[in-house]
Amino acid sequence: MPEKNPNPPYKRIATEEAWAPQELIKLYRQEIETKAIGEPGFHSLWGFFSGTSEKAQAHGRRIQDLGELRLKDMDDSGIDMQIISLTSPGVQIFDPKDASAMAIRFNDELAEGIARHPDRFAGLAAFSPLDPANAAKELERGVNTLGLKGGILNSHTLGTYLDDEQYWEIFEAAEALDVPIYLHPNTPSPQMIEPFLKRGLDAAVYGFACETGLHALRLMVSGLFDRFPKLQIMLGHCGEALPYWLYRIDYMHGHISVTGRYPDVGPLKRRARDYLLENFLYSNSGVGWAPPVNFVRDVIGPDRMMYAMDYPWQFVPEEVGELEANLGLDAAGLKQFFEDNARRVFKL
Ligand code: CA
Repeated sequence: MPEKNPNPPYKRIATEEAWAPQELIKLYRQEIETKAIGEPGFHSLWGFFSGTSEKAQAHGRRIQDLGELRLKDMDDSGIDMQIISLTSPGVQIFDPKDASAMAIRFNDELAEGIARHPDRFAGLAAFSPLDPANAAKELERGVNTLGLKGGILNSHTLGTYLDDEQYWEIFEAAEALDVPIYLHPNTPSPQMIEPFLKRGLDAAVYGFACETGLHALRLMVSGLFDRFPKLQIMLGHCGEALPYWLYRIDYMHGHISVTGRYPDVGPLKRRARDYLLENFLYSNSGVGWAPPVNFVRDVIGPDRMMYAMDYPWQFVPEEVGELEANLGLDAAGLKQFFEDNARRVFKL
């Protein structure tokens, strides 16, 4: 197994790292017991991770920590800094108004944790997407008052996707603040999860990518980026495989959008590929494997692809060493991937 460089000429910044306050875990446990909301994806994921297995317990300790345990794990895996966000699905399964109040509390708590270790932690602001006016306000407060670096959106909210214009003031705020929204996975929406569940394909193994890639494409074909041309949406997991699909999405959407075949699909100002190249940012979270990382760097551009581990969901201490050995990049390329892009995008 390749050893990571103990003293590289760059900092390693991990950009999609998860945290959950105690209160949120408690609320998740309540929902697991009462099934008041009953969303199947949530129950599949958190039914396991709020349980008593050894794996769930270790995960629970790590995800709630904003201090010594997290810092030690970072040191052990060669990570200098984490960009931390409220774990999926965040506040998004709760009643939208309740969720807005929770987002305020959790963003405050995250900002306090960051303030204790400002050289090791930065963070993204959570919000309640189905309460768009307050979501935009909270994003603004998170960035301007708490010093957070962008927003975190865990894909669908109770089966709703944000390509509907009634939610666009959130994106308007992000563009005006000049911060990215990280479009993070959620389990597939209630409308699409059924065929994933029986064979255990609903979560990070595959369902996350289908759900989140779909949400990204819905945003794109809705004309969101024609309205907000400077908006930046960030995707993890090597872009949820969208870079691999780039040619065909571009080709087919170019045809479909001019046929009038779908009443809600019309031509866009730019080509589909242009949005994927200019309005999306990418990380390799959960993909510690050189070929797709290099593919995204090649197809999208090396200035839009950056490092993430996906701690603690996928805590792989040896990952950094393997990537450094296998990416085939010189020191400048590694610095761009591990440090420079994150500093520019998140203004660190
Ligand atoms: Ca993640």
